[in-house]
Amino acid sequence: LKMVRKFCVGGNWKMNGDKAAIAEICKSLSGAALDSNTEVVVGCPALYVIYARGLLPNTISVAGQNAYKVAKGAFTGEVSPAMLKDAGADWVILGHSERRQIFKESDELIGEKCAHALAEGLKVIACIGETLEEREAGKTEEVVFRQTGVLSKHIKDWSNVVLAYEPVWAIGTGKTATPQQAQEVHAALRQWLTKNISQAVSDSLRIQYGGSVTAANCRELASQPDIDGFLVGGASLKPEFIDIVNAKK
Ligand code: PGA
Repeated sequence: LKMVRKFCVGGNWKMNGDKAAIAEICKSLSGAALDSNTEVVVGCPALYVIYARGLLPNTISVAGQNAYKVAKGAFTGEVSPAMLKDAGADWVILGHSERRQIFKESDELIGEKCAHALAEGLKVIACIGETLEEREAGKTEEVVFRQTGVLSKHIKDWSNVVLAYEPVWAIGTGKTATPQQAQEVHAALRQWLTKNISQAVSDSLRIQYGGSVTAANCRELASQPDIDGFLVGGASLKPEFIDIVNAKK
């Protein structure tokens, strides 16, 4: 019996937008005919979570793009999962490659952040993916298995987690992984989950692909058996995000 995994498309606005631009995106999403079989989440700068939440219909969830590993305290500049939740977010994106590379977040810290966010009642989009150098060295599986392995030390219940496979070389570069390249890694991850976690988690965990997803390439990617959604950066700021949400329609 094949497990049905609800397709899930996340937008990752990154550090983009101001009130005017966010109002425009929210207006366009509010008026769009979005596939009701697809879950939609928009990753908003923390500062604008309250604002975006107020402008979006409740069929669209809001995510933070990062959150610290404790609830409150002397951590100048940080935002906690409890704060995101209080502001109206239901999700948080954690472990994005920009957090890993630019802000030097370790596998371990990301695992801790995931555990704390889940304990606080947020759903988590946990990101993994290899660099170009790692892919060219034939280390793709080694890297994504290591990253997922550290996540699994910290995540005991995967029901509120979406895993986002985002090859770093495909992010913001216009070099999308081919459907075959993405499917190959997604299938390998599912096998890893079966072997190292459980058949139930392997069957039910949604694995998004991210990296230069566009309206033009989303349908073929979405037709792959182990691709259960997308995490979309650049195109999530444009009207074409609606076509990506509707990739299965
Ligand atoms: P991109 O970003 O769609 O602009 O490549 C994806 C991401 O960083 O999540």
